[in-house]
Amino acid sequence: MSTDAAADLAGLTARATALDAADPVAHARERFALPEGVIYLDGNSLGALPASVPAAVADVVRQQWGTDLIASWNTHDWWGAPTRIGDAVGALVGSAAGQISVGDTTSVNLFKCYVAASRMRPGRRVVVSDPGVFPTDQYVLEGAAALAGLEIVHSRPDGVPDVLRERGDEVALVSLSHVDYRTGELWDLPGITAATQAAGALSLWDLCHSAGVVPVGLDEHSVDLAVGCGYKYLNGGPGAPAFVYVATRHQGDFDQPLTGWHGHARPFAMEGSFAPAEGIARARVGTPPLLSMLALEEALRAYDGLDMTQVRAKSLSLTGFFVECLRDLVPDAVLATPLDDVRRGSQVALRHPQAYAVVQALIARGVIGDFREPDIIRLGFAPLYLSHADALAAAQHLAEVLANDEHLEARFTTRSTVT
Ligand SMILES: *Cc1c(COP(=O)(O)O)cnc(C)c1O
Repeated sequence: MSTDAAADLAGLTARATALDAADPVAHARERFALPEGVIYLDGNSLGALPASVPAAVADVVRQQWGTDLIASWNTHDWWGAPTRIGDAVGALVGSAAGQISVGDTTSVNLFKCYVAASRMRPGRRVVVSDPGVFPTDQYVLEGAAALAGLEIVHSRPDGVPDVLRERGDEVALVSLSHVDYRTGELWDLPGITAATQAAGALSLWDLCHSAGVVPVGLDEHSVDLAVGCGYKYLNGGPGAPAFVYVATRHQGDFDQPLTGWHGHARPFAMEGSFAPAEGIARARVGTPPLLSMLALEEALRAYDGLDMTQVRAKSLSLTGFFVECLRDLVPDAVLATPLDDVRRGSQVALRHPQAYAVVQALIARGVIGDFREPDIIRLGFAPLYLSHADALAAAQHLAEVLANDEHLEARFTTRSTVT
């Protein structure tokens, strides 16, 4: 190592130590059970296991299911779980109680919102959506559009005001992701929501990559509808249920198409025809997966006592510091993520022609990130369990992989089903 490089590294190490010592959420790391020697940069795809979840799930299985049996619907309030856990999610995304229901998948919740929104704006047939959106958002929109007779107009989020100027009176809904799943770009939710509503349309935000790391401010910014994922930064576990937000002012008109018995006004009257429940309960469909629901509820306790402003500051500090490390250690790195704090979610994405193989070589060194088509190395920084020392170590591993051409080894180029 040259004298300059050694000095850079010493400086970065000192900075990491100082930043970690001053980190007000550092203690949350103890709330997670991560394997030794792993730097986990994929909490944006599957959040890490909160240490208290295994015992809580074991209790649900043995006590609530095994011993208390069917009575648990009342005695452990299984029935109230979707809205009770919805309120806990709401505390992280800036929603007052009674506006979020947890259950189903993000895909299913999107479907409810697309169709309900089209019914809430009967004279308008256009849905504006980002062509770069996560595929399921586009696929489900195609399905809903075919059923509801909608026209999909594609626009990047920053082009939405132009679309609204041209065709605003035809637009029923503007449906966007808060954070781009590939590049990590954070879009202007307050500004786009205001422009959407000024045109008489509704806003739907997909919070999959912002819930749990960005305060969001759903109520503060008068968002109409939102959906999000339970298994990413919320750490609910594989296949954890998703959530849907319907602002109180819209709940009476939220005529969603999946009219299952859990969304009925009187589910146990077993009436012959559907009548929607009051409030957010009408977003429910059928019996929720309670083991997963209650695992998510326990996982959310990892946020107890944490202030989302501090969580966001830590997240920005981690990604900002990682970029600083790259500047010194991997100066050729091509960033896909904006450097401006107000435009950055909680991940750093790099472009590389052999991105898949680079990710595999990093994984072999215990640095777990993921690859996204076509050329993205995606590194998620979950602020509750990562340190600045982890960010520096990850940058060092990346520098070594590239310097040694480890990614050119044949064993790193074979693709698995899940990338
Ligand atoms: C992860 C993710 C999803 C996942 O949808 P599921 O139906 O839960 O599989 C949807 N949209 C976005 C933007 C995502 O990042």
